[in-house]
Amino acid sequence: MLLYHKFAQAGLSSAAAQGIIKLMSMQVQHDAPARFPVDLHTHTSASDGSDTPAELVAEARRRGVVVLGITDHDSVAGLDAALDAGRAQGIEIVPGVELSIANQPERDFMELHLLGYGIDHHEPALVAALQRAAEARLEQKLASVRKLQSLGFDVPEAEVLALAGAGVLGRAHIAQVALARNPGRFRDAEQIFREYISPGGLAYVPRAHQIVLEEGIQLILQAGGAPVLAHPASYRQVRQPAAMVRRAAALGIAGLESRYPYDKTRPHFGAGASEPADLISYYSDLGRSLGLGMTGGSDYHGRRKNVALGEQGLTLEEYAAWREYAGAVRRPRSRRE
Ligand SMILES: [Zn+2]
Ligand SMILES: [Zn+2]
Repeated sequence: MLLYHKFAQAGLSSAAAQGIIKLMSMQVQHDAPARFPVDLHTHTSASDGSDTPAELVAEARRRGVVVLGITDHDSVAGLDAALDAGRAQGIEIVPGVELSIANQPERDFMELHLLGYGIDHHEPALVAALQRAAEARLEQKLASVRKLQSLGFDVPEAEVLALAGAGVLGRAHIAQVALARNPGRFRDAEQIFREYISPGGLAYVPRAHQIVLEEGIQLILQAGGAPVLAHPASYRQVRQPAAMVRRAAALGIAGLESRYPYDKTRPHFGAGASEPADLISYYSDLGRSLGLGMTGGSDYHGRRKNVALGEQGLTLEEYAAWREYAGAVRRPRSRRE
């Protein structure tokens, strides 16, 4: 009972608190307990993660992650199934999305990702914008595949599409097929990302239509969510990240994803042990100084990325602080009276 109060004080829903207490009393064997009980950045098979929403929720339960933010790239298609599984498994699901933002070199906004948390994922304007984004994204990825083919690599379009299935086709799908089909020609998927399919890469093709940052912020607020700038230290093309974050804050982002596994993720793959910690403390301080809420997550992609669920994230106390903060910045949904 004491434990239950502690969770309640930390702002955890009663379903999530009951879930973790049940988990502890059953003494379930965790594969390896997660470092953080709150992971607010994860991908499912609705975008380019390998786990279905239900599998992701099961993984959260196995590892002791009790609050799970689901943030598929430009898609909310996994959220209904995730919310159902979360209710059944006693895991609190934070419905989210990760929007790809249009490049604006003059503002130093390059390849930005905007997270939205606590969204009404059936809100019509958001659904329509995601549909347009999905079409543009598909065209871009297929153009990238054709470019890889013209460079002499065996990357069948049908295989890449089949791998994405009903999900959003992503670079991770392209990399997986290219790696499997061209033995000996790539060291690993990271190399394919870096040298071929990331901006500046040999097979990179820019997207024809994308939303700009103001539009993304507006869409998320309109859907009742809180907009958060993702992984501020991972934008290789941004020349002055701190100034860019300040400009984004002035446009109305509510939070900054300060906790992120920079050592596991391009372009910081292979960073020394001290570098990610330095980046995390630097952006935590910057966010605080700008009055932004702090979020964090692993950017888990299942088998498609070498990162474990809950490897980065928030403590229960930090999550409670974020919820309180996000609740204050979120506007009432437009459709409510
Ligand atoms: Zn991202
Ligand atoms: Zn992500």
